[in-house]
Amino acid sequence: MNSRDRELGMDRPIKRRDFLNGVAVAIGASLLGAESAAGQAPPGYYPPALTGMRGLYPGSFTTAHSLRDHTFWKTHAYKPADTGERYDLVIVGGGISGLSAAYFYRKAAGDNARILILDVLDDFGGHAKRNEFDVNGRKLLGYGGTYAIESPSPYSPIAKSVIDDLGIDVTATARVLDRKLYPSLGLGPGVFFDKETFGADLLLPDPKPEKDADFGDPGTSETHWKEFHEKAPLPAGAKQDIQRIYEGSKDYMPGLSPSEKKARLARMTYANYLTEVAGADPAVVKYFQTRPHAYFGVGIDAVSAQDAWGFGLPGFQGLDLGTEPGPGISHDSIQNEEAEKYWFHFPDGNASIARLLVRKLLPAAIPGNSIEDVVTARADYSRLDEPASNTRIRLNSTVARVRHLGDVDTAKEVEVAYVKDGKLQSIRAGRCILACWHQMIPYLTDELSQRQRAALASAAKVPIVYTNVVLKNWTAFQKAGVNSVYAPGSYFEAVQLDLPVSMGDYKCPRTPDEPIVVHLMKTPCHPGLPARDQHRAGRIELYGTTFETFERNIRDEFARSLASGGFDPARDIAAITVNRWPHGYAYEYNSLFDPFWLEGGEQPCVVARQPFGRIAIANADAAAYAYTDAAIDEAYRAVNDLLGIA
Ligand SMILES: Cc1cc2nc3c(=O)[nH]c(=O)nc-3n(C[C@H](O)[C@H](O)[C@H](O)COP(=O)(O)OP(=O)(O)OC[C@H]3O[C@@H](n4cnc5c(N)ncnc54)[C@H](O)[C@@H]3O)c2cc1C
Repeated sequence: MNSRDRELGMDRPIKRRDFLNGVAVAIGASLLGAESAAGQAPPGYYPPALTGMRGLYPGSFTTAHSLRDHTFWKTHAYKPADTGERYDLVIVGGGISGLSAAYFYRKAAGDNARILILDVLDDFGGHAKRNEFDVNGRKLLGYGGTYAIESPSPYSPIAKSVIDDLGIDVTATARVLDRKLYPSLGLGPGVFFDKETFGADLLLPDPKPEKDADFGDPGTSETHWKEFHEKAPLPAGAKQDIQRIYEGSKDYMPGLSPSEKKARLARMTYANYLTEVAGADPAVVKYFQTRPHAYFGVGIDAVSAQDAWGFGLPGFQGLDLGTEPGPGISHDSIQNEEAEKYWFHFPDGNASIARLLVRKLLPAAIPGNSIEDVVTARADYSRLDEPASNTRIRLNSTVARVRHLGDVDTAKEVEVAYVKDGKLQSIRAGRCILACWHQMIPYLTDELSQRQRAALASAAKVPIVYTNVVLKNWTAFQKAGVNSVYAPGSYFEAVQLDLPVSMGDYKCPRTPDEPIVVHLMKTPCHPGLPARDQHRAGRIELYGTTFETFERNIRDEFARSLASGGFDPARDIAAITVNRWPHGYAYEYNSLFDPFWLEGGEQPCVVARQPFGRIAIANADAAAYAYTDAAIDEAYRAVNDLLGIA
């Protein structure tokens, strides 16, 4: 180990390597996936508490990738062992869409309907993932994926009815979220310039932080602009340009009508808009590069200027564009007041929605009866897959094939073959919903037309990493005066102290000497390539990145960005969980790279989601919309696709 690694604390015993790269080294493989054939979880099985590499942890995708590589059926007997189990409905995928499908089907068909949900992962919820930590007896929660109930478009009546039925009142945000906590301690958003990108390491107050749903509009400060001009490691002209882009009111496209402007903006990148239309110094691009990562999974080199405008990025104040979006705008960029108000964050993000859905389906698995007590309830994984239960959730089970037993149009049953504990087994059901990732579906069935297969395959998801780092205290953040850091050149582009939400017995950390979860986000982009190629390259990069690499980058970034606060990565870090999602957000169409999106052609997601025989297709991919409401709406549609079938 070199001296830099020692300084960073790479040798310190923290909660991380009990599952080195996701492979159990200390506790033994029994907790990860070796359940009994009946599907029961062994004592102590509790995935939310696992640290290290989570999300798509190593080993979770081995079967899926062998299907992709066409090696699977060469090594498995073609005929799976029939378990003898028979269901009314089998659902592939236990994310919010799959769980919602079970919820809607039970509503329509009654509580006696026999339903089985199968999922690859060791936990339910899909991207709605809960991370738990124990720091000297104090339980802390984090979100490993889906952050909040939020959507650029208003929730549909159907999606709202589910949220209501689960008991979630989004207006409770005002009661549970303490928006004043960090400002009252003198903390605000910061921006970190790293020396590799900007020539020097420096943390400054962000002179114009993004408006967000969590803390509202932090406004702007003359003092912060002054400090920015004095200290930021950027050419003086670029700094002036950045303030002009934020505050100027010049029309950079004179002589064009609003719709002509929007038509042009939809066809150029925001980076080009800044430099070629608004005449900004090229260094300005580096500064704004990662602002849209959290929404689009790519930077301003691959986001259209119209999307940047819709999304609230600056530089359009003088263009008089009105409020109506033009053709080709992304779902993510449409501002809607009603949608903005429909916002709620549980301490584990929307994992609480998944847990509330499981509680509806299997009350014994998630004890309690309120949205407060669900936050701290310990799920009993041994109750998920009980033979006596009408609804069952079977984890660690990768579906390898779905097929009608007989002709697609006349068959009465579907056979679903899945791998669990290395064994290929099958069950039969009257109906099936594929609530898994669309890109996977062509590998599961040969009953689809080439056109539908291509549409499904085109839904390759956007890679993203949500990391939770538990600190023993956050005094360094307090000394540095920041509660969040925008780091446009760093390994993780966003760092945030946990949102201060207290619900029921769960109390958020309130003083800097308490342990806290810090959330870090990374979007593995490859600027310069078309969006889909960036996602593909990012996905490959994530699969090839070890936990050790993530850890070293985490420690390095904390040490450098919080140097002014005296952060010591060897001393201050208690635990790390990296939620790696090579298949993350549903792919949303992009006016720069998907011509149909501008020209009004057929959307691939509509072709992709057509039912065939007794099989329907759900998942957020079915709407090409990376939000929880899409997962719920598409589950509802998929259930209705099947209800008419005798
Ligand atoms: C990091 C991240 C943050 C997000 N933040 C937000 C947010 O703040 N608000 C919001 O509204 N939305 C957010 N989203 C989007 C939201 O999470 C999704 O739209 C929604 O949760 C998707 O649910 P789903 O059930 O459609 O898919 P998923 O959650 O992906 O579930 C699909 C499931 O299918 C399983 N599966 C795949 N293949 C197979 C197979 N062959 N056999 C068995 N199982 C299989 C997978 O393991 C997975 O569990 C976020 C997404 C990500 C990735």
